Amino acid sequence: MFVDIAKIHIKAGDGGDGAVAFHREKYVASGGPDGGDGGRGGNIVFVADDNLSTLADFRYKRKYKAAKGENGRGGRQNGKKAEDLVIRVPRGTLVKEAESGRILADISDKTPVVVAKGGKGGWGNPHFATPTRQTPRFAKPGQPGEEYEVQLELKLLADVGIVGFPNVGKSTLISVVSEAKPIIANYHFTTITPVLGVVRMGEGSSFVMADIPGLIEGAGDGLGLGHQFLRHVERCRMLVHMVDVSGSEGRDPREDFRIINEELAKFDPELAKRPMIVAGNKCDLTDDETVEDFRKFIEDQGYKFFPIMAAISYEVEPLLKEIQEQLSKLPPITVYEPEPAPLPSEADIEKREVRVENHDGIFFVEADWLLRILRTIDFSDSDSLQYFQRVLIGSGVIDALKDAGINEGDTVSMYDFEFDFVE
Ligand code: GDP
Ligand code: MG
Repeated sequence: MFVDIAKIHIKAGDGGDGAVAFHREKYVASGGPDGGDGGRGGNIVFVADDNLSTLADFRYKRKYKAAKGENGRGGRQNGKKAEDLVIRVPRGTLVKEAESGRILADISDKTPVVVAKGGKGGWGNPHFATPTRQTPRFAKPGQPGEEYEVQLELKLLADVGIVGFPNVGKSTLISVVSEAKPIIANYHFTTITPVLGVVRMGEGSSFVMADIPGLIEGAGDGLGLGHQFLRHVERCRMLVHMVDVSGSEGRDPREDFRIINEELAKFDPELAKRPMIVAGNKCDLTDDETVEDFRKFIEDQGYKFFPIMAAISYEVEPLLKEIQEQLSKLPPITVYEPEPAPLPSEADIEKREVRVENHDGIFFVEADWLLRILRTIDFSDSDSLQYFQRVLIGSGVIDALKDAGINEGDTVSMYDFEFDFVE
């Protein structure tokens, strides 16, 4: 079965904890603090693997967790960073945050992408030593690793997609122009997996053609087979719309052409604007007059028309030349940019639970929700900072600090963000 969508849970490793330790030497009464820092948690990394063509592996294994960083130790020994967890996916896989649909990464080239960052290691106690605080008896725990419920979506990378009703000859065409060997048979829905083929045009020039499984009426609404495959058309730089001009199955080729175009537009209006040429197949099963009538019908709508007989490669060359010609003028295959996490809205500012601990005049603030917000704040941007201030007041962090007895000038420590408290 062809699986091109999967939902998995990923959790990067937590950071290791910082250590509380003091230097000990014979005959030395009390040494200074020497607890090491914790190591970073492992990242969750996605990488494209060309040996994979589906997301089937993810149907059974759904949880992926990277290891925690090592804890710091005495003698200023820092904990080791944990290893990254590498997840292999077919090239062209989009990684989306399941809840919002936000794109986290598009795994389309060889570069590995960190999708969930490991938590930073906590600081050891020497970080908190000052002239007035020479023996800090506390250290920081590691920060939690990022965690997401993600939707993986395979969107094939092809220059040209062949669309059309089942049985018109799409698989036949790709089999005669490339090394791809799809199943060809005279019944509907033989193709249940999109097939990619490389078409070599000589002088080192080539393009990738995708045989998109049969679309049927209602596919754009999610009815029947076809809908899931429309996703694979989205990245194609152009389309070849294949029609059985002979109407050999008692179909009306004009009606077929209209229906498929409607389905494409319904799925994504952008697809209706994609450059398209029309291949009229099975010319051997009809007469020249019918073919020429159909040509007029197509050309009147502004499309180029190529009558072919895919099964015997007849007149296939001019079609390929036209594809090559158009591709040379079209922009490259779409690669999706990751979308930044939106700032939570003002409406989300509400009283929330927060832990404050006072260690020798440093006020440690901890809350998972706060860490999530901190990760989205751009500290070089004044709007972002003002928003953050409103969060601190509105969520009750400032009140909690006052309840814990904070004074003007004391240090507030939130994860790796520190500032002096001012009223
Ligand atoms: P697909 O469902 O669009 O992929 O169609 P296939 O490539 O599987 O072809 C469906 C049937 O049409 C097969 O039996 C092919 O042999 C046949 N076919 C393909 N091209 C031609 C052609 O040019 N002429 C005729 N008569 N039959 C063809
Ligand atoms: Mg087919």
